[in-house]
This record gives sequence, structure tokens and C-alpha cells, in this order.
Amino acid sequence: MSDVILRAPVVLTMAGGPIEDGAVAIRGERIADVGRFREVRARNTAEVIDLGGSVLLPGLINTHCHLDYTMLRGRIARQPSFTDWIRTINSHKAGFSTDDYIAAIDAGFREARRFGTTTILNLTACPQAATRAADVLRTFWCAELIDVRPNSDPHEITDAACDALAHLASPLAGRGLAPHAPYTASAELYRHVGRIASHEDFVRTTHVAESFEELQMFRHASGALYDFLAELGRDMSDCGNETAFARLLRLCSDKSRWIFAHANELTDDDFQLLRRADPLHIVHCPRSHGYFRHTRFAYERLRDAGVNVCIGTDSLASAPDLSLLAELRIFARERPHVSARELLEMVTTNAAAALRRQGELGRLLPGYLADIVAVPFQGKPLEAYEGVVAHEGAISFVMLNGEPQQVQ
Ligand SMILES: [Zn+2]
Repeated sequence: MSDVILRAPVVLTMAGGPIEDGAVAIRGERIADVGRFREVRARNTAEVIDLGGSVLLPGLINTHCHLDYTMLRGRIARQPSFTDWIRTINSHKAGFSTDDYIAAIDAGFREARRFGTTTILNLTACPQAATRAADVLRTFWCAELIDVRPNSDPHEITDAACDALAHLASPLAGRGLAPHAPYTASAELYRHVGRIASHEDFVRTTHVAESFEELQMFRHASGALYDFLAELGRDMSDCGNETAFARLLRLCSDKSRWIFAHANELTDDDFQLLRRADPLHIVHCPRSHGYFRHTRFAYERLRDAGVNVCIGTDSLASAPDLSLLAELRIFARERPHVSARELLEMVTTNAAAALRRQGELGRLLPGYLADIVAVPFQGKPLEAYEGVVAHEGAISFVMLNGEPQQVQ
């Protein structure tokens, strides 16, 4: 791609205020200049792409997603319990081949990009699919690791996933590991992943405190999830004592290097612990949360305790589509006091910080990667944040790594 200048009536850099009649100059895969069109044009010689009638902003970042389940949209009716949902999705997964995973991931990539996502943290049960799925988004491939069955070897499982991820050659691919959750991943699995991820600089993520049944299991050694896992032969001697969240904080060294998904069911003691911990990254998935009818997500309490809150979609087995803007609208419905800019930060700057890429993703600034989207907008610059969040459906323009993409 030769050098190009993108011009739009409003540019939201997510670093300063909105820029009226703004422009972003791109050189190769990175942003070279940002400012008022007239000034950017004077400083740079390049073809101008005029995106009239739209607002430019950084490509959106989805920090929690399972594209493996794109084909399960609308296929799993609401279940009486979270445990029943796990049973149901497991029965679907049992029939999936590697080609099914690749098809699901490819379809998910295209859908996510249509809704303005340019970076995705994708947990996958099939890390070998990563080398064959299309290369259409900046993707942090996180191999999902489960060693719940007796005789599973956490080292073997992790090492096999690392071997699969080692074949990733794309410049758009990052690597990561995802012990599934404290109820499906052993203490040794968490410790081993911590060691490898530190050494390799992998992204690391896990589910925690997602359901009330998980809280019941760890705190009281009872409930549907407890019974289900005991039946599978899981060693339940870690139950009946601390919460899942407390357990996880004990198992994860370098806590602020982890991205924790959900944290819906936290106790007052858990909040005490997180206040004392280094700043944590937590991903909330509003529509999946609604599907499962979890306890209200304690956004204000977490934010005020210094947690970096991000937004993800989770999978299409519990959400209707992969639109982050739709997630923000559902989140905002219960929280009208949260500004549109604060909402957008959760899928740009906060998400980039959680991925430890805050120096090159999530903002439009010189030196940052040229991942840029345009959303149709007619209005005053100060209303552009609201205009973006309100936008429904596909977006009008996507640039990924300096290259304009087909979005329809
Ligand atoms: Zn998940």
C-alpha cells in the first residue's frame, strides 16, 4: 500500500478531543500524522481518500471471544442452569472437526470486521486451526486449556498448544494461553502457563467467577457445577473454602499480565483482595451476561477500585452477533451516566492496555498501527462519540495494518 491520507469531517483519536475536518496520514502499516486536514495535507504528500459523512476512529478491540462457536448462533436455547449450558455446548463440540473450527473462525472474522473490529482476542479449543484460518483480523490466538479429567497432564496439554501456536507466521498474529477456568484448569496448569507466558511474552487470559454455580462450588462445595465436575472425576479437594476469584489470584503470578473474563459473582472479600492486588484487567460481555442472567456486573465498583474494564462479545453460543457497539449499547442501557467516550475507551484504549499494546493500538497517533474504522455520522464533532455508539449494522470503511479492507 502506498502512502495515503484519510480525511473525514470528524476524527476521534481517543487521545485528545475530536478533530473537526480531520485527517490521518498513513505510511506503510503505521500512522505517520494526525490533525486538521489542511495541516496534515501540508506536511504529507499522498493520495487523499475522502470519507465524507463519517467519523474516523481506532479499529475496535474485542478482548473476549470464542470464534469456534460462530456456527452455534441461536442454536442453544436458554438452559435452566449454567451447568446445563456447559453440558449442551460440550455435546455440540464433540462433533466438531478441525475444518468445522476453521469455517467457524473464518465466518466470525468476517462478521467481526463488518462491525468495526480490527483486533480480537480469540480463545480457541483448536489452536491448530490458527495457522489455516484466514488472516483478516489482528488476532491474539489464545489456546484454551482444560485438564479437568483424571490423568490429564497439564504440562503435556500446554506444550502441545504451544507447538501448534509456534507455526503461526502471520504478522497480524499474536500468541496466548487460556487456562479455561478455575473449575476446569488445575493449579499446576495455571502455574505452568504463568511460567511459559512470562518467558514467551504470551497474552494470558482465563474465565473466572462467571456464574453463581462456580461460586457455590468453590465456596461451599455444593451445587450443580460441583456435582457435574465430581461426576467427571475432577479432584474436588480445592472446594469448600475460598472463592474462585481468591483462588485464581493466589495461582496467578503477575496478576496484571492476565485478562480475566467475567468476574460477575464477586463477594465483598473478593473486592478487598482486588483492591490490594496490582491493577487488574477484567472483560465484561454484556449480552452473554444477560443471556445467562448473572448477578448485575459491578462496573462502578470495579472501575473505582482501579480495575481496567474492557468489553467483549463472548461467543455466538450466548450472544446474537459479534458487534462491540451493540454490546456497548446494552451496557449503557443500565448505566446512562457512563459517557459515550468512556464506553468507547473500553473497546479501544482499555483493551489495548489489557493486551499490553497501549503504545501501538487503540488510539490514532503517529507511530501507532494503522487500524482505523469509519462510521457513518452527520452531526457536530462533540456528538461524534454518541454517534458512533448509536450506529447499528455494518460500518462503512475498515483499514487494517495500513490496508483498506472489503467490509461488505
Ligand atoms: Zn468465554
